[in-house]
Amino acid sequence: MPEEQKKSPIESVSQREETVLKFWDRADIFNKTLQQSAPHGEYVFYDGPPFATGTPHYGHIVSSLMKDVIPRYQTMRGYHVERKWGWDCHGLPIENIVEKELGTKNKKEIEDLGITQFNSLCRSRVSTYVDDWKKIIKRLGRWADMDHAYKTMDLNFMDSVWWAFKRLWDQGLIYKDYRSMHICPRCETTLSQSEVAEGYRDIKDLSVIAKFELIDEAGTYILAWTTTPWTLIANVALAIGLEIKYVKVEVDDAFYIVAQELLDQVFPDGNYQIVTEYQGTDLVGRVYKPLFNYYSEDKSLQNRERGWKIYAADFVTTTEGTGIVHIAPAFGEDDMDLGKKNNLPFIQHIGLDGVFKPEVKDFSGLQVKPVADHSSTDVEIIKYLAAHGTLFYKAKYEHSYPHCWRCDTPLINYATSSWFVGVSKIKEQLLKSAKNINWSPAYIKEGRFGNWLNGARDWSISRQRFWASAIPIWQCSCGEQKVIGSVAELEKLTATKITDIHKDKVDLLTFKCDKCGGEMKRISDVLDCWFESASMPFAQLHYPTENKAKFEHNFPAQFIAEGIDQTRTWFYYLHVMAVGLFKKRAFSNVMANGIVLALDGKKMSKRLQNYPDPSLIIEKYGSDALRAYLLSSPVMQAENLNFSEKDVQESLRKNVMILWNIYKFYQMFAGENPASATNLKANNTESKNILDRWIIIKLNLLINQTTSALEAYNLPKAIRPITEFIDELSTWYLRRSRDRFKSDNLVDRDLALATTKRVLITLAKLMAPFTPFIAESLWQKVKGFNFTNDDRSVHLETWPLQPSKAKSLVQQAFKIFGLGREDQKILNNMSSVRRIVELGLAQRDAVGIKTRQMLASIKVRGMAILDSKYVDLITAELNIQTLSFTDLLAEKSSVELDTVLSPELKRQGLKRELIRSINLLRKENGLTLQDRVTVYYQAPAQLDQALKTIAPEIISDTLALDFIAGIALSQNGQTKKEIKFAGQVITVSLQK
Ligand SMILES: [Zn+2]
Ligand SMILES: [Zn+2]
Repeated sequence: MPEEQKKSPIESVSQREETVLKFWDRADIFNKTLQQSAPHGEYVFYDGPPFATGTPHYGHIVSSLMKDVIPRYQTMRGYHVERKWGWDCHGLPIENIVEKELGTKNKKEIEDLGITQFNSLCRSRVSTYVDDWKKIIKRLGRWADMDHAYKTMDLNFMDSVWWAFKRLWDQGLIYKDYRSMHICPRCETTLSQSEVAEGYRDIKDLSVIAKFELIDEAGTYILAWTTTPWTLIANVALAIGLEIKYVKVEVDDAFYIVAQELLDQVFPDGNYQIVTEYQGTDLVGRVYKPLFNYYSEDKSLQNRERGWKIYAADFVTTTEGTGIVHIAPAFGEDDMDLGKKNNLPFIQHIGLDGVFKPEVKDFSGLQVKPVADHSSTDVEIIKYLAAHGTLFYKAKYEHSYPHCWRCDTPLINYATSSWFVGVSKIKEQLLKSAKNINWSPAYIKEGRFGNWLNGARDWSISRQRFWASAIPIWQCSCGEQKVIGSVAELEKLTATKITDIHKDKVDLLTFKCDKCGGEMKRISDVLDCWFESASMPFAQLHYPTENKAKFEHNFPAQFIAEGIDQTRTWFYYLHVMAVGLFKKRAFSNVMANGIVLALDGKKMSKRLQNYPDPSLIIEKYGSDALRAYLLSSPVMQAENLNFSEKDVQESLRKNVMILWNIYKFYQMFAGENPASATNLKANNTESKNILDRWIIIKLNLLINQTTSALEAYNLPKAIRPITEFIDELSTWYLRRSRDRFKSDNLVDRDLALATTKRVLITLAKLMAPFTPFIAESLWQKVKGFNFTNDDRSVHLETWPLQPSKAKSLVQQAFKIFGLGREDQKILNNMSSVRRIVELGLAQRDAVGIKTRQMLASIKVRGMAILDSKYVDLITAELNIQTLSFTDLLAEKSSVELDTVLSPELKRQGLKRELIRSINLLRKENGLTLQDRVTVYYQAPAQLDQALKTIAPEIISDTLALDFIAGIALSQNGQTKKEIKFAGQVITVSLQK
């Protein structure tokens, strides 16, 4: 087939969808769905805000689909579903983009540039990709109100965030603490537990075992192992376990102390002599020589006298290392706790920027973990140890290490101060409220989400950055603190009209201290942007200053959806904020999607170009095909999906093309103005035709299945039966009804048309949430509407299954289309019919006789006798004259074909072959049944007689003028066709 022709159906799919989009715009259908009466009231949906720092990828498309299907469905169910879009504007993603443009390497350079300018650059970049988003979201067919989107950088939004902060503060849920945190030395900020969890990657580091010489026992060394050699400078103690047995061994005239259990790992060659055995207690209190002297000789160092000794700790194990742990309280949580407990000296030899301080003379100015070569500084430390005789062993060490989720710099564990939300204080309530959240898939509830909630720690909400909501705490040098809960409050205190509360503006606003009359200044930290995303339920409405009643009526949400990674972030923080502020959960139903990977199972990578651009896929196959593909895939149930373009193409065929062909066939007989089907008075339920009855039962079952799966928020389970139904509609109902459509029996013809019409209209409604374009086209066409003049839409229709009472439960819905005994019988019988057909076709295949060749009889074994209306379906489909049931109780069902061909059967076979070829020739030459043609044939003499006898039938069945021996005069590129029959070749040609 020429390339042009091959492409055309696919192109027309995309064009058809564009027509639908134009229609939705012209007729304002989305707004109409919001304005139409909603008997069941509100169905509340919250949209999690994406960053517009790049164009939408498949992950966004997947979550967009969940956020489209459910609201469309609930709208048809009779709810009013607002779909306010949101934009995440603040935080490191935008700051990093601006920093890249500016080429800044650290925070200092931003401060030199001026925060005002930096922030205004950030503001200007927030909307860079908004237009791309609008285009793709619209083309995808997702309905969302992007024109009235909330932005986390809007004054009103930020005002509500301050209100939330103040309310948490008033409840004693916000506090400041000095503790061991993960920081990004490049971004120079602390990160939260979830941000850290995001960036774990396997890297190769250097591990060392250092030698700590005992002061009172020269030549005896305690061995301690570390994977962060750079922290050895800050070492102030060694920790042992009281339950652990230790030994002193002699190796080449030197003495070493390690845990007995780890001896063979530390000395793998076994070349040692055990000299002494110790209990942990024997070692506690012993003093050793510091490895470095930058701090140990500084007399002003607090608690110096308690440093460089052995302490007992319960976190010491013998799983790896030496059973003795090096302690640097400034760089680890356990270390810090032990330091606090024992009043150890505190050495922080690097700054928040990760640079060694000047007093660390041999290393001053070095970066702790340079991005280019993160272990180069450790190499310097190791060289120093080796030169000073304190290195016992070094090795490469591969481990999972956290990195900055934005700039990819290795994080470091660093003691610093931070503001926290006291999540642990409300943990009971968090767990209790989470019990009523319905998850899809269900296992996340107790699994990923439950585990994260159980392990939840206090939330570090302060960041030492610029483009974010400012923390609304003002303080005075006398120690007085004041939290501001609204812009209005700050306006009053400062007698200033305020239009922007970003750091660069709000830091300039001061007021008088109530206590001492001094100046109250804002603390310099800004808020974690998850604090803002978690505030969206109320901040998008500028609650409580505005929309008080509306918010209270719209909280919690009935439905939210995002990727599974959000269980630790958005889902979690929404929940924390809601419980903290309102003692309630934030959402009742939540769907989590998995990750879309490249076809090879690797991460989709722009650089590797290992996946097709979503826009191109949509252009090529249409949005419906992509939607149906993703919606029926396990990615909707939080599993990963390897994206396959081929499967999108297959999805187009199964969900759109086949359906469209069904419609075309229907339309051919119903006509452009389908009077026969429309005017038909007969109620379809009255149709006694077994195919009509069967397809209507199937349709009702489909309605039940799709509805109950949607009620359970299981999208694959909801859409897959639709695809199966389309297949059955095409390959069985329509295939077997074809002759009825053409029939002279007008009553039966109209019953077939009316049934098909009813099925197509209901199917369009069921498909509307999933594949809104084809649903719209189909519904309009079958209904006889058109896109240019009518304002009706399938999306304004009522869902085919309504519970008997408003707001009643799924269970009730099931009852509506219950199966009667008679219905069940029809289903069973039809499934027997299809089974027999399947066996019969397989046997024809095995003996190599095409279905076009009629056979005399078929025997069916091991199956119950069916009455004639079913038998007729089988004999017609299998092209067999008679069917008989035998051996009913045979264990295995089977069929037996009589494959002997009588002369009469042969003639019938020949006739069908010829008719088929003639019709094909007509089609290939662009001729319709209205074009009268003469058919010529050339055949061996022995077939002449047979051909002459079937000629009249061929003429009438192909609407030909004549069927005669000869060759058509070659014209207009007409071709001929060769038919092989019983070892002979017949050639046919046409002449108009
Ligand atoms: Zn960073
Ligand atoms: Zn004061």
